[in-house]
Amino acid sequence: MTKQFQNYINGEFVPSQGNKFFENKNPSHKDEILGEFPKSDISDVDAAVSAAKQAQPEWEKVTSPQRGKILFKIAELMEQKKDEIAKAIVKEMAKPLGSAQGDVQSGIDLCRYMAGEGRRLFGQTTSSELAERTAQTRRVPVGVCALITPWNAPMAAIAWKVFPAIIAGNTVILKPSKDTPETANFLAEILHEAELPKGVFNLVHGTGSEVGDPLVQHKDVDLVSFTGSTEVGIRINEICASRLASVSLEMGGKNAVLVLDDADVDTAVDAVVSGAFSLAGQRCSSTSRVIVQDSVYTEFMDKLTSKTKSLKVGPAEGEGVDVIPVINEQQYKDISGAIENAKTAGIECVVGGEALSGGAYDEGYYISPTIFVDVPQSSALWRKEIFGPVLAVARCSSFEQGIDMVNDSDFGLISSVFTSDVTKAQKAMDMVQTGVCYINAPTFGSEVHLPFGGLKLSGNGHREPGAGSIDVFTEWQTVYIDYSGEVQNSQTVTKK
Ligand code: NAP
Repeated sequence: MTKQFQNYINGEFVPSQGNKFFENKNPSHKDEILGEFPKSDISDVDAAVSAAKQAQPEWEKVTSPQRGKILFKIAELMEQKKDEIAKAIVKEMAKPLGSAQGDVQSGIDLCRYMAGEGRRLFGQTTSSELAERTAQTRRVPVGVCALITPWNAPMAAIAWKVFPAIIAGNTVILKPSKDTPETANFLAEILHEAELPKGVFNLVHGTGSEVGDPLVQHKDVDLVSFTGSTEVGIRINEICASRLASVSLEMGGKNAVLVLDDADVDTAVDAVVSGAFSLAGQRCSSTSRVIVQDSVYTEFMDKLTSKTKSLKVGPAEGEGVDVIPVINEQQYKDISGAIENAKTAGIECVVGGEALSGGAYDEGYYISPTIFVDVPQSSALWRKEIFGPVLAVARCSSFEQGIDMVNDSDFGLISSVFTSDVTKAQKAMDMVQTGVCYINAPTFGSEVHLPFGGLKLSGNGHREPGAGSIDVFTEWQTVYIDYSGEVQNSQTVTKK
C-alpha cells in the first residue's frame, strides 16, 4: 500500500483538513508512486499561519545563541539521515546519488553556518551627535514568513530559507514543491526530533495555486521568500506590494559562458558540458548560452559536440548516467516544444534535439542533450529560460562583443568567462551584469557562505544564503539611549 504523508502544523503531523491527497512520482519511472501527500487548501494554510503567528513572540524571546544550539542539533540529525534523505531525492527528483548527497550537505552546511550566526547577529554601535547619549542598531525578526520553494534542489532550497528565518527569531510556513514533498517531510521529522518549539516551523503540502497563493495573500504573513520561475515570482511580488509585505525573490536565469581565444578550451568544454547537461539542465545555474570567440570556435565546437554525443542518458540510479530525465510531464512538453520551435525557426541543431522513446525511455521523461548553433540573439531560444538540456551557441569576434552578448538577456543570474588573461578576467568581472560571475569555472557550484542571487529578472535585489539571508529575514531597529538627564534633540537648537 502506498505510504500516506501528513502536514506538520503546530508541532504535530496532521492530515489536511479536506483529507485529499496527491501522488509523488519518480521521474525516472513515472509509474512508480513514492507516496501520497496532503492536497491542502486555504483551511490548512490558515491553521499553519495561525500556529506560526502564535508561536512567534515566544520564539523571539529565546536568545539567538539558544536558537543556535537547536540548529546545531538539527545539523547533527541531518548528518545522521543524510544518506536516507539523499536516496529519497534520487527517487523523487531523479537526482543522481552524488548530487543528491551534495544537496543535503548544502543544507547541513547552511544549518551550521546559521547556528553560528546565533552568536553573531551583529548590529552596530556608533556615536550620537549629542553628548551622554548612545546610538545603536539591532536586528529584529520580521515575523511570520512564508517560504515557497522549487523542486530542483529539494533540500538546499528549503534549508537556505528555513534556517536563516528561524535563527533570526521568525516563525515559518514552508510550501515545498509538489514534485519533491518527501524531502520536506524529512526536514519536518528532524525539526520535530530536535524539539524545535511547536509552531516555529510548519509544513503545508500542496500546489502553488491551492497553498502557495493563499499563503502569499494571507494578511498575517509578514514576509514571502520565494525561489522559482520569474513568471510566478512577478505575480507574488505584485500581491506582496499591494499589502506591503516584504518579499524576497530568487528566480530564473539564462546563464552564459564566454569562451575567449586565450581560453583553455578543454576545461571550457568540460565546464559547458557539465553546466548544460548534468541534472538535464535543471539548475537555475545551468549553462544555457555559450558565446565562443571566432578563432577557437571550430576547436571548441568539435570537442563540445563530440563530448556531448558521448553522454549517457538514463535513470537517476543508473550506472554511469550523465543526463537524467526531466522532472515531470509538463516540463517534458515545454522543453520538447521549445526545441521544436527553434527548429521551425530554422536554427541549426547539431546534437540531439529529440525526446527519447522506446525501452526504458518510455518509463520516464527523457530528452537528449541538445545543441543549437548560430543562435540569433532575437530568438526565443536565446532569450527564454528552458530549464532543460538545451544549449544555444553563438560566436563573437572580440572580447567586447562577447561581453555585450552575455549581457544581452532579460536575466542576470550567472555568467562565466574562460580566459588565461588576468586583465580580461578582471575587466569581465567589471562588465558582466550578473549577480554571480565565475572565471574559468562552470556556471554552477555556489558555496553556502557566499551570497547567491541575480540581477534583472533573476531577482529583486535580495541574496541567499550566507550573511545575505540574515538581511532578508531581519529588520533593523535603531535605539538611542539618553543618560544626560535632560530632553535633548539633535534636530532642535537645544543641542549641547
Ligand atoms: P515554479 O513553477 O515557479 O514553482 C516554484 C514554487 O512556487 C513551487 O512550490 C510552486 O508550487 C509554487 N507556485 C506556483 N504557482 C504559485 C502561485 N501562484 N503562488 C504561490 N506559489 C506558487 O518553479 P519550479 O518549476 O518549481 O522551479 C524552476 C524555476 O525555479 C526555474 O525558473 C529556475 O530558474 C528557478 N530557480 C531559481 C533559483 C535561484 O536561486 N535563482 C534556484 C532554483 C530554481 P507547485 O508545487 O505547484 O509547483
